Amino acid sequence: MDIQGNILMERYELGRLLGQGTFAKVYYARNLTTGQSVAIKVIDKEKVLRVGLINQIKREISVMKRVRHPNILQLYEVMATKTKIYFALEYAKGGELFDKVANGKLKEQVARKYFQQLINAVDFCHSRGVYHRDLKPENLLLDENENLKVSDFGLSALAESKHQDGLLHTTCGTPAYVAPEVITRRGYDGDKADVWSCGVILYVLLAGYLPFHDSNLVEMYRKIGRSEFRFPNWFQPEVRKLLSRILDPNPVNRITIPKIKENSWFKKEKVSKEPSSEKASGSCSTYPADNQDSTKPPNMNAFDIISLSRGFDLTTLFEEHGKKTEARFTIWRRASVVITKLEEIGKSLGMKVSKREAGLLKLDAAKEGKKGMLSINAEIFELTPSLHLVEVKKSNGDTLEYQKVLNEGLRPALQDITWTSQADEQEQQEEIKQQDQCS
Ligand code: AMP
Repeated sequence: MDIQGNILMERYELGRLLGQGTFAKVYYARNLTTGQSVAIKVIDKEKVLRVGLINQIKREISVMKRVRHPNILQLYEVMATKTKIYFALEYAKGGELFDKVANGKLKEQVARKYFQQLINAVDFCHSRGVYHRDLKPENLLLDENENLKVSDFGLSALAESKHQDGLLHTTCGTPAYVAPEVITRRGYDGDKADVWSCGVILYVLLAGYLPFHDSNLVEMYRKIGRSEFRFPNWFQPEVRKLLSRILDPNPVNRITIPKIKENSWFKKEKVSKEPSSEKASGSCSTYPADNQDSTKPPNMNAFDIISLSRGFDLTTLFEEHGKKTEARFTIWRRASVVITKLEEIGKSLGMKVSKREAGLLKLDAAKEGKKGMLSINAEIFELTPSLHLVEVKKSNGDTLEYQKVLNEGLRPALQDITWTSQADEQEQQEEIKQQDQCS
């Protein structure tokens, strides 16, 4: 684990434990550079690998990284070491929504505000093909302004595994929020299942207790399957009607999100679109598409950086050692300096260096190798004007010849201007060792 004292990856100072789930522990942390409070979720990679979910998680992370909504807990960055995956998440200072319900039911307009925010978040994610499938009290957090923040959106794979290996019944304790079609494992639509869970949540906010509850689990399943529940006498007719449409055991007949949004009870006292105005401005967005000038090195957003740079990279972590044909270097220099440096290195290695468009440099060997001419691409991406990521890839020739150039030529020559964390260095050493053994 790359935690030295209580410092993670030289970037975050870890504090108290905020909570714990099946796969993860969540800690309060502070970004050492900006001072920003964050929550660091630590996931045990072995556990996730054991249930065979790594690819799904990687895919879902890539979605999460691109969706932003004021009511969805923002994922700032993903880091990884050999054994752990770390998510740096927006810190929800207000804690869990359901701690509020523990003190009794909420007023109708307060419950409606949270429900509106929940539906808006769920709708936004559905429109981007992301389903939660495990909406439950622990996933509903509040920020310092009492705005709802849904957590774990996009990490439904983790929830899903609980179903696959049967853990749902034991570790989650209660399937109280899960739709009937999910319980019967007949295959289901993620959007319909999420709508059901939202209905259970609304009921709990207004009632102060669960709609489906029984100390006998089989009996509870039966009640969920038939949607057998009663309204307390303080539930108004309008909300009763809405809840009956949401808690329809037949997913085909269940009300859809667009229809919920048209509902008269839902529409009363509409929440403003941007609940925490300061943070939310322009935040209901996917990252903008690349607007890159073909002559400049392409820009990358923070998450591209994370997913490309070693030590923060999930993809490389699961690649087989010794088979890598690419390497990445994060360099604290301006683009012109990086280019000059690469040209110098190429020449010193007896290679021909030619500049191509959009920050691409080609390094070609002077003579034929075992498998033709060795040709290497070095692509430069601008992270900030004085920070660049150089991705080195073999485009032709023999892999062992390429690795020799990489490890004995490029790597040492770039060393003095490359940013590396201790974890990076360790991994590099191991990788070189493995490659030596293979050759
Ligand atoms: P999870 O594994 O996401 O269910 O997290 C376990 C618990 O940690 C939650 O129920 C919360 O109490 C706490 N927690 C998770 N994420 C955050 C966060 N971003 N801010 C504050 N507390 C959190």
